[in-house]
Amino acid sequence: MQTARRIQQLPPYLFAEIDKKIAKAKAAGVDIISFGMGDPDRPTPRHIIERLQSAAEEAWTHRYPSYEGMLAFREAVADWYRQNRGVELDPVSEIVALIGSKEGLAHISLCYVDPGDINLVPDPGYPAYSTGTLFAGGKSFKMPLLEQNGFLPDLAAIPSDIAKQAKLMFLNYPNNPTGAVAPKEFYQDVVAFAREYDIIVCHDAAYSEVAFDGYRPLSFLEIDGAKEVGVEFHSLSKTYNMTGWRLGWAAGNAQVIEALARVKGNIDSGVFSAVQLAGIEALRGPQDSIDAMQEVYKERRDLMIEGLRELGWRIDKPKATIYVWAPVPNGYTSTQFAAKLLDRTGVVVTPGNGYGEYGEGYVRISLCVEKERIQEALQRLKNAGIRYSE
Ligand SMILES: *Cc1c(COP(=O)(O)O)cnc(C)c1O
Repeated sequence: MQTARRIQQLPPYLFAEIDKKIAKAKAAGVDIISFGMGDPDRPTPRHIIERLQSAAEEAWTHRYPSYEGMLAFREAVADWYRQNRGVELDPVSEIVALIGSKEGLAHISLCYVDPGDINLVPDPGYPAYSTGTLFAGGKSFKMPLLEQNGFLPDLAAIPSDIAKQAKLMFLNYPNNPTGAVAPKEFYQDVVAFAREYDIIVCHDAAYSEVAFDGYRPLSFLEIDGAKEVGVEFHSLSKTYNMTGWRLGWAAGNAQVIEALARVKGNIDSGVFSAVQLAGIEALRGPQDSIDAMQEVYKERRDLMIEGLRELGWRIDKPKATIYVWAPVPNGYTSTQFAAKLLDRTGVVVTPGNGYGEYGEGYVRISLCVEKERIQEALQRLKNAGIRYSE
């Protein structure tokens, strides 16, 4: 059975070697501490769970949902944008519900990319941007996210013949995996660039509510002209610890939303209505769980960064996201360093090259681990003599 080229062309799975080592260590009884998964470990807030329970008792929710998302959910999203970011959206034409934002990010290329077309994709980056591009028959032009540029793409470095051909530009701030955030001027440059070259901007805002120290990430849609050139993908996954629930949305340019809804209408049949009702409760109900969530990650971040600094790392505290993006000591590749950590300490981190070639030289440390275990992991590093050196 010959698989299609689009599957054969998927990038190699770079974690196979590490996964094998983890399985072996586990079998040998090693107490593994994994900072690998970007998946909130705390439960979904109680009132949201209870709304799912009551909603599931309403028999009408058992039938096919409306493909574009129930109007009440899209209205809740519109109100959320107005209250939280001062952005006005028409719930009917400018918002579509998604089965998690990954679904929309993977499908958007089917709307605009013909075989051979180009998308501008951040590297390192969330894999759905490039695999969605690949599945549509397109090619990714990599925009390197470099430390010296604050992990923002250098728009001026994109050749104009590439920019002229490009269909979509994917962006993601606060950023997975680097933890970087984007200032207003950057987004303004993006809007001007997108206008000049007729590019659709797809901004992934999955971490917009996971921010610390009073920092408030911008929505792309807050920028003048943004709605003319793009859409924002959002999700309840990280904001409310709801990764397993599969509920998100895309919002912004009405033509793009319409195209995405059309593709989706031919592939999936929308989100379980009871989950959408729970999503309305999440967006409209008490928001104190967000403060608590931010406090949990902030404490973990501080503990991790301060511990790494004691071991020689010179890294700043990320203003947002659930990740620490740490350079690997001199003399190691990302994979070699991750393997050494695992072998010597039972601590799992993700090699940065798994997010693209420009992730080489880093590892991603997820903060979805309790403080006591972070402390334990840092102690193990110290005991094993693992330090950062340039
Ligand atoms: C977690 C994450 C998402 C959210 O995915 P869902 O499908 O909404 O659960 C989107 N983008 C990035 C970069 C993420 O890390």
